[in-house]
Amino acid sequence: MTPKQDLILIVDDHEENLLLLDRILVNQGYLVMKTMHGEKVEPLAERYLPQLILLDIQLPVMDGYEVCRRLKANPQTACIPVIFISALDSEEDRVKGFEAGGVDYISKPIQIAETLARVHTHVTLRQLQEQLGSTNRELVDRISDLTLSQIKLHDREGKLQAIVSALPHLTFIHDAEGHYLEILGDKVDLLAMRRTDMLGRRLQDVLPPQTGALIMEAIQAVLMTGESKVIEYQLPVVSGRELWFEGRIALLDRDQPAGGRVVFVASEITERVELYQKVNALATQDPLTDCFNRRHFLHLAEKEIQRAIRYDRSLSLLILDIDHFKQVNDLYGHPTGDLVLRSMVTEIQHNLREVDILGRYGGEEFIVLLPETGMNGVRDVAERLRQSIQNLVVDTRQGSVAVTVSIGAACLRALERQRMNLEAFIDEADRALYLAKEHGRNCVRDNHPTSIALPVVPKEILRLPRDKRTA
Ligand code: GH3
Ligand code: MG
Ligand code: MG
Repeated sequence: MTPKQDLILIVDDHEENLLLLDRILVNQGYLVMKTMHGEKVEPLAERYLPQLILLDIQLPVMDGYEVCRRLKANPQTACIPVIFISALDSEEDRVKGFEAGGVDYISKPIQIAETLARVHTHVTLRQLQEQLGSTNRELVDRISDLTLSQIKLHDREGKLQAIVSALPHLTFIHDAEGHYLEILGDKVDLLAMRRTDMLGRRLQDVLPPQTGALIMEAIQAVLMTGESKVIEYQLPVVSGRELWFEGRIALLDRDQPAGGRVVFVASEITERVELYQKVNALATQDPLTDCFNRRHFLHLAEKEIQRAIRYDRSLSLLILDIDHFKQVNDLYGHPTGDLVLRSMVTEIQHNLREVDILGRYGGEEFIVLLPETGMNGVRDVAERLRQSIQNLVVDTRQGSVAVTVSIGAACLRALERQRMNLEAFIDEADRALYLAKEHGRNCVRDNHPTSIALPVVPKEILRLPRDKRTA
């Protein structure tokens, strides 16, 4: 069936022809517009944009060829198909018609069926052309939209790159196997090696084994749980320095063929870590000798004694006090006294195990906690320490200085564990030390029941400086 309401313009200077064509086309459901004047065709076509023009060639003022040429030259009407209808039937006339821009040629007298078939064909063609045109326009619109979004995306990516570069971090993209997929940021001096040497390699093959394992474990955890993770690690960088980093790892996506990807943002925190270490050292170490200060020693000792009591483990304690140290200061001066204290601590440390805890208890008094050590063990250690200090010669500007120590040893005895606490434990060692001093110094005394009975020294006296203690 012919599509309804398609407008067709008929041009003929013979009224009967116009009427005939009008009737046939209206019967088929077309809308029809007629004119007998060639020169009116272009303005009418411009205004009503018909789907098709049936154009007679022989017209009084402007012939059909000229009308057609003008229509084709006008961009508004150029696409309207023109079918010539003429009594001129030579090949030359037809060629002229096609040259003028016609799409078809119908000879008079009109054959109704043929005319309708041709009209229908060209109207359908025109409709298809229009559809194609609008699809094309849609496509062009979508392409320009896409181009615009691409430009915006490119712009955003550029801004993002600039931000990433401006930040004092390095950003890595890793897959589940630890490969460096991307390395972003300008701080290339913080990389473990050259960027180009790292890309595509696995971090386990680039970083020291322990650090690589630590980061891989964190990446796996992030991929598994989807929750971000923060880790701290140490790394030698291209400049050769060993730096501290904080790594923040977040999930980028999971649906990658290689099992997902993460973003890894690394910030250098060496200054912060070193500051923390300094503050920590200040809080726990004795500034002169670098061994633990009294407060930190007591803190550690409290834990040790509880552990020993709970698990029924041996634990021993030593207090060392330099003999007549006041005289060293008086003879050689305070700075030399300091040097002697430092040398003595180094000497003590050489004679202890890693697990032993050494602290400065007071001016020239040091205290040592010896886990997993019973009475025999602590006697041996104390005697070894006493002898090594006796043999220690400290070279100073004032010449060689030697000192001796008196040592009080105490062992956490099975029977008394239940009522033993740190304070009582230290008192036991202090009483033994008192005995060592009484015995003439440079010797070791302990709290074993078979040793010479420990003196009952009132606490008030034990708390006094040794030179003020008169028992
Ligand atoms: P004793 O054998 O009875 O222990 O005699 P002593 O002189 O060692 O004992 P006393 O308690 O009378 O004196 C301790 C001295 O240790 C006095 C003090 O000046 C000195 N001393 C304490 N702390 C420091 C320090 O940090 N540096 C120096 N150079 N001397 C210190
Ligand atoms: Mg003292
Ligand atoms: Mg002393």
